[in-house]
Amino acid sequence: MTATHDVPFWGMFIAGKSCASRSGKRLIVKNPKNGTIVGEVAEGDRQDIDDAVEAATNALAAWSARSGAERGDIMARAADILRSRLPELLTIEIDQIGRPRREMVAQLARLPEWFTYFGAVARTHEDTVPPFGNGFLNYTRRVPLGVVGHVTPWNHPLLILTKKVAPAMAAGNTMVVKPSELAPITPLLLGEVFKEAGLPDGVYNVVPGFGATAGLALTSHPDIRKVDLTGGTETGKAVAAIAGGNLTRIAAELGGKASVIVFPDVEVDKSVAAAMFASFIATGQTCVQGARLLVHRSVHDQVVAELVRRTANIRIGDPQDPKTQLGPLVSEKQRGIVERYVNIGLQEGATLAFGGGRPEGSDLDQGYYYKPTIFTNVTNEMRIAQEEIFGPVVCVIPFDTEEEAVALANGTQFGLATSVWTRDLARAHRVAHALQCGIVWINDHHRIDPASPWGGFKMSGIGRENGLIAYEEYTQIQNVILNLSEELFDWYAEDGVEKRYS
Ligand code: NDP
Repeated sequence: MTATHDVPFWGMFIAGKSCASRSGKRLIVKNPKNGTIVGEVAEGDRQDIDDAVEAATNALAAWSARSGAERGDIMARAADILRSRLPELLTIEIDQIGRPRREMVAQLARLPEWFTYFGAVARTHEDTVPPFGNGFLNYTRRVPLGVVGHVTPWNHPLLILTKKVAPAMAAGNTMVVKPSELAPITPLLLGEVFKEAGLPDGVYNVVPGFGATAGLALTSHPDIRKVDLTGGTETGKAVAAIAGGNLTRIAAELGGKASVIVFPDVEVDKSVAAAMFASFIATGQTCVQGARLLVHRSVHDQVVAELVRRTANIRIGDPQDPKTQLGPLVSEKQRGIVERYVNIGLQEGATLAFGGGRPEGSDLDQGYYYKPTIFTNVTNEMRIAQEEIFGPVVCVIPFDTEEEAVALANGTQFGLATSVWTRDLARAHRVAHALQCGIVWINDHHRIDPASPWGGFKMSGIGRENGLIAYEEYTQIQNVILNLSEELFDWYAEDGVEKRYS
């Protein structure tokens, strides 16, 4: 990091070095709490992406030739170094995206686990010896894909990046990252962590820039073997179409409209705590936000009353203050989207039970703050119940039967996550099995682990992060078939012996 005019500056991270972009252009990163400048980063474009892909290509042979144990050792060191640098990363992450400190402490403290878990996978992953018949030794090898591209959003800059980088690195790939232009600093700093851990230069490269320029250059690059994108569903479709032109693999973690299903056997306090946690964490800017609260009609009024009461007490304020419970939205644009959807909800006839505006207070005026917002009298057909708002807005919808709850939860184009709240074990599993989504929590929400597959059904995405499957999706299988026989096998010999191929 260097500084001009007191503004910190971070270059791109290519081949282990920090460098300016070819054009010399810079992006300004602003703090959503008051619009002040957090810093500047180099703004990359096609030529910079080409440079980064070249660096990753040059590093590939040596990195992929390392044993899983060697890769695992470097990743374990990276986990330790990352842990020691968390206080610094934490402050910058909060300044970039405005998420409250108490949430970011909890989230970032988990990141080293991804490197220890996938480092251990690299060290211990076993290949297979499929049956092939007598006289043969048949085995599979997991071979890295090559140079892969990671395109990441702003809402969990380090977590989402880590979910992609750790399995890719463990499997022996090299990579180029295009982070969101709103939150590129911490992905750049991760490069320093890896360098200190002994990761060879060129394995991890970062080119900040815009989706339409650097993102497009990366995802359409013919030397990229897999694009792993987290973003909106429309972005996912556009990127998948382009990647398809090069037969580039794609993993896409896309939008969601998660439901929180509350059955009447759950105490009201517990239901309300669940709904608030699901809906308002990260100011609602998470792909698994509990955007629809499906409540059994018999407890609906009690739950809504208590939800409104407790939501009114949420402390909105400076995200760096450990007491703050709700920070600003990430940008003016994002707040504009939320405001438009709240107007749409009112026009559709939903009832605003709480929120629906900007909070007042001189310390909040300069930031992109918005009150946590609760709509009741919502039907599942309304746009506010169907489209991703990506803000602190929850739509409460009553249901009468288990079948109706499942139909409501499944009744969107998305299929990322649902939480089911009940003490009835059989019901919990029955409902889970009927849900068309990639993640089901029972009596929990937002829970994540590096070992546990994460991804969506339907328009919420393709592929999985986390777990063995994420590692395997960063490899391709090579099948090695060894004929143990020394006997001559001569297909064309005219020796009267019937030939067979097996
Ligand atoms: P976007 O889809 O706007 O952007 C995601 C990334 O893609 C950004 O880096 C963006 O760059 C880039 N990009 C945009 N267009 C292109 C393109 N044509 N080619 C290549 N890259 C492109 O998403 P947001 O950043 O606004 O993040 C919010 C979205 O992410 C939500 O829809 C949310 O649901 C989803 N998400 C999904 C998660 C999951 O696990 N399923 C987790 C978290 C978020 P730029 O920033 O310059 O536009």
